[in-house]
Amino acid sequence: MVVTIDWSLVFLADMGVFKQESPPNGCDLSINRSHRVSDSANTPYCDHCGYSLKGLTESSKCPECGKPLVEVLMRESFPGRRGYRYQSKKKILGWPLISIATGPFRDERVGRPVGIIAIGDYPKGVVAIGAICLGFVSIGGLPIGLVSLGGVSLGLLAVGGCALGVVAVGGVSIGVWAVGGTACYVLAGWGGSTIQIPFP
Ligand SMILES: [Zn+2]
Repeated sequence: MVVTIDWSLVFLADMGVFKQESPPNGCDLSINRSHRVSDSANTPYCDHCGYSLKGLTESSKCPECGKPLVEVLMRESFPGRRGYRYQSKKKILGWPLISIATGPFRDERVGRPVGIIAIGDYPKGVVAIGAICLGFVSIGGLPIGLVSLGGVSLGLLAVGGCALGVVAVGGVSIGVWAVGGTACYVLAGWGGSTIQIPFP
């Protein structure tokens, strides 16, 4: 079975919709953000580069990236800042091409994006990336799909810490073909310890 994931499309979408340049260190901005604001959610920071603007009273520009403060000043306590919602206008079969929903936003406590490419907390899509994802190609903590990659994977082709599938690769693998530290298999198994499952 050959499954091709067009990663360029995923990454292109990712870059395009966030419209933010990566900081020089190449870290994800959202990861930076959580590290940065630890003392108080009210600490002002630059939305462009993430630099803390605390105590900055004599400048009209971000000392780090030079952007005007009136454009980039941001606080974690601003309403609606923690979550993110995006849907592309382009639709295929009634689904948005790209749907992103992460974190709490307005009255939603978690993101539930639905799209061809769905990225978020509980994504549903052809390509679903997130914590608990359902999709044709699912990547995340608990992916369920035809091709599943993640901590606990359930799928036709499952790769992960604990993988259950027709073809399963992982720390504990259970499948028709199973490869892993502990492999339970029906037809063939490769691993540290293999257990054959009798199949009628
Ligand atoms: Zn800045």
